[in-house]
Amino acid sequence: MSQQFPDLIDRVVNLAKRRGFVYPSAEIYGGFRSTYDYGPLGALMLRNVKDAWVRAMVQERDDVVLIDAAILGPPAIYEASGHIANFTDPLVDCKNCNQRFREDQLPDRTTCPSCGKKDTFTEARAFNLMFKTHAGPVAEDGAECYLRPETAQGMFVNFANVLHTTRKKPPFGIAQVGKSFRNEITPGNFVFRTREFEQMELEFFVPPADAGQWYEYWIAERLAWYHKLGIPSEQLRIRPHDADELSHYSSGTSDVEFAFPWGWGELEGIANRGDFDLKQHATHSGQKLEFFDQGTNERYVPHCIEPAAGATRTMMAFLLSAYDEEEVNGETRTVLRLHPRLAPYKVAILPLSKKAELSVKAREVLKLVQPHFMCEYDETQAIGRRYRRQDEIGTPLCVTVDFDSLEDHAVTVRERDTMTQVRVPIAELLATLRDKLS
Ligand code: ATP
Repeated sequence: MSQQFPDLIDRVVNLAKRRGFVYPSAEIYGGFRSTYDYGPLGALMLRNVKDAWVRAMVQERDDVVLIDAAILGPPAIYEASGHIANFTDPLVDCKNCNQRFREDQLPDRTTCPSCGKKDTFTEARAFNLMFKTHAGPVAEDGAECYLRPETAQGMFVNFANVLHTTRKKPPFGIAQVGKSFRNEITPGNFVFRTREFEQMELEFFVPPADAGQWYEYWIAERLAWYHKLGIPSEQLRIRPHDADELSHYSSGTSDVEFAFPWGWGELEGIANRGDFDLKQHATHSGQKLEFFDQGTNERYVPHCIEPAAGATRTMMAFLLSAYDEEEVNGETRTVLRLHPRLAPYKVAILPLSKKAELSVKAREVLKLVQPHFMCEYDETQAIGRRYRRQDEIGTPLCVTVDFDSLEDHAVTVRERDTMTQVRVPIAELLATLRDKLS
């Protein structure tokens, strides 16, 4: 298990770069601090993380709908939400080395972690984390806008639209997955904290009296999601916020935390937000954001439970948790024990050698499997090396086409975790793959 490697983070970052999961951004220009690009494997895996979330939160339920709102937004949204006034972190400068820090993240508030000098910090000042830009050709006041710092506001401002177009009634939710931007003072720990990242958020609207119950429900649901996708329970915990950590409108917030190599860190926050957001937007926009219950003839502002997760941060947790090394025949085998749903490729199709007749057969098999599963085709190197390459990127199954395949129309299916192999007729291959991957 992952905890066995003291330098786990270095191993995973190295693998991510070497195999094309995550690259430092703008590398040919010397890099752009704490910004990352997702390479061929990372782009697939990140999509799988987001798809697994949408599957659990939207597809497998009938009370949640998905939207995709704009990233650019007018100041009005963020005045109403409170982000312009309050979305700040306490910033301090070291007067000796000029480095800047988030005061609440300093291990010791008297000593600079960079130069080691004592009592050199300025007074903390509130630093707003939102990225401001201008829409249109003239950078004048009226053209100011913001990159969204969370996806949540898209759900609140579309509450009435969704209510009218879907005829949903509380309890129901609006979900969204997409990029958010925060001008973090101290980004770092690989993709744990970046200035551009992806979120997966649900705003679940409920009758006020039921909010407490739904809050507990979503905490349990969300914890189970990480667990089902392969993170062992000892690497996960729920941390309820102390009263002094809560925003004034929240009656409860709990984080799902993961045992990162440097300690417990948040993957997701589940908050009982009351009616704060809808009321704020109703007041600022002058629009009614409420629900009329025809059964009881009552009009009310629903309360909102918000499970807010980070897709990029969560992908990192899945990578860390899946990383493993073991001795096989005197050699080290690196394996990403990713849940099949998260693995970039589900199946690798490998002709035993580069001989033309094998390639033809192997490509036939590829064409058969490709419409059903994301596949990789690889005919370079010795077969043992190719198995190791697939193990290292988490591919659950390898299908090998050999010379016997030309006669018996069967192939060998090898499992990543156990390395066991079975011979399967090509006619039964899809059913076998489906069975092993589910
Ligand atoms: P933190 O305390 O770590 O700054 P937060 O409590 O401000 O996070 P939320 O606003 O609750 O975070 O956002 C929900 C989720 O979005 C977080 O749990 C995290 O997974 C993700 N997230 C937030 N900020 C970042 C970031 N800068 N980089 C990557 N993911 C982030």
